Amino acid sequence: MAFEGLTERLQNAFSKLRRKGKITESDVRDMMREVRLALLEADVNFTVVKDFVNTVRQRALGADVLDSLTPTQQVLKIVNEELTKVMGDTAVPLNKSTHIPTIIMMVGLQGAGKTTTAGKLALKLKNEEHARPLMIAADIYRPAAVDQLVTLGKQIDVPVFEQGTDHDPVDIVKAGLDQAALQKNDYVLIDTAGRLQIDEQLMDELVRIKALAHPDEILLVVDAMTGQNATEVAKGFNDQLDITGVVLTKLDGDTRGGAALSIRAVTGKPIKFTGQGEKLEDLDVFYPDRMANRILGMGDMMTLIEKAQKDYDANQAEKMAEKMRENTFDFNDFLDQMGQIQNMGPVQDLMKMIPGLANNPAAQNLNIGDKDIDHLKAIVYSMTPQEREQPELLNPSRRRRIAAGSGRSVQEVNRMIKQFNMSKEMMQKMSKGNMSGMEGMFGG
Ligand code: GDP
Repeated sequence: MAFEGLTERLQNAFSKLRRKGKITESDVRDMMREVRLALLEADVNFTVVKDFVNTVRQRALGADVLDSLTPTQQVLKIVNEELTKVMGDTAVPLNKSTHIPTIIMMVGLQGAGKTTTAGKLALKLKNEEHARPLMIAADIYRPAAVDQLVTLGKQIDVPVFEQGTDHDPVDIVKAGLDQAALQKNDYVLIDTAGRLQIDEQLMDELVRIKALAHPDEILLVVDAMTGQNATEVAKGFNDQLDITGVVLTKLDGDTRGGAALSIRAVTGKPIKFTGQGEKLEDLDVFYPDRMANRILGMGDMMTLIEKAQKDYDANQAEKMAEKMRENTFDFNDFLDQMGQIQNMGPVQDLMKMIPGLANNPAAQNLNIGDKDIDHLKAIVYSMTPQEREQPELLNPSRRRRIAAGSGRSVQEVNRMIKQFNMSKEMMQKMSKGNMSGMEGMFGG
């Protein structure tokens, strides 16, 4: 999974620090040396690493940090804040035109996911804004590109303007924009040609399309798996086209994290969306703060809650949040959540978003899959209604009865109850915005 190595190394650096209690300047320096190596190994741009490490070191060595009662947490907080800042601080929304249509030009190298992302974005606009987008097929070089966009359009019920592969792409775009004006489409997404590498001919064509279409948004699609190279590509496109934003695709893959952490700092342009899978729903708004949490292995509760809300009604989500705050979360809620989680997608992916479980060795040992969730559910089903509401009733003899009833071992029942209590405690701390909630996440 994305960022795994980086997260692990950063967590190691922090847990070493944590074991010390009181920390000294030289502890901070040692830790920052490890952070630096971790970032370089994750393929983060060298200059970005240097600036980042300098800033964090300077802040962490302040007397207010070293003399505080919780120095490690202060340092962690600084790292979190600076990671967020490197990625742009806040989410940047799509540029919108004051008159229709808003024109979005998609650019990028071949295979980055440009065409797929055009489809994903059109679907998102349709679903979230009830928009009526039109997509223009202006990649006439890759033989199947036009067909691919037409097929995507059919899948999401969005019209595609195409004139085959024999016309000049600039003319195609012009005709497409005329059609959008006639049909009063509110968005136009232009799928342009890609190449294996940046070349003059490609850039020249893109510059001509830009001059004609005056896009409100030029979204560069880059493949996160290509690491340092993604950053170089972003720089190249930005120098020539003055892009307005970046979509980082394939973050569901095994990327080391370099691109996510470098692009903003190197190009000055925001990452606006991330691609998290091949399905057309797998496009997410990029939130630097959530990404920083994810990189630090602190989970991504917000995204998890939003995913849940797609199925959940808002009242129920609010009810759950309240239960976490008030510490009244019980096994009935746990059961509800397990059911919801199973509806939401592969469990392993979701686990990574839960604070404390993300990249936590304990969670990896748990290695929860869908079948395990069925086992957990079986255990809860074997509890009496009273036990579900009052987990503190679960003494050894009750646990034995539950194990027998569910066909699971007593150890398994114990383990689940322990996990339940730990998550409950963590959720409560997190929901109070208490930094010490993170403390338990770094082992040590
Ligand atoms: P283009 O040449 O830039 O238009 O690239 P395509 O849109 O054809 O995508 C190339 C491949 O990457 C296809 O197999 C897509 O399904 C895949 N792809 C695109 N975005 C993502 C993503 O976010 N995650 C994953 N796993 N695959 C993606």
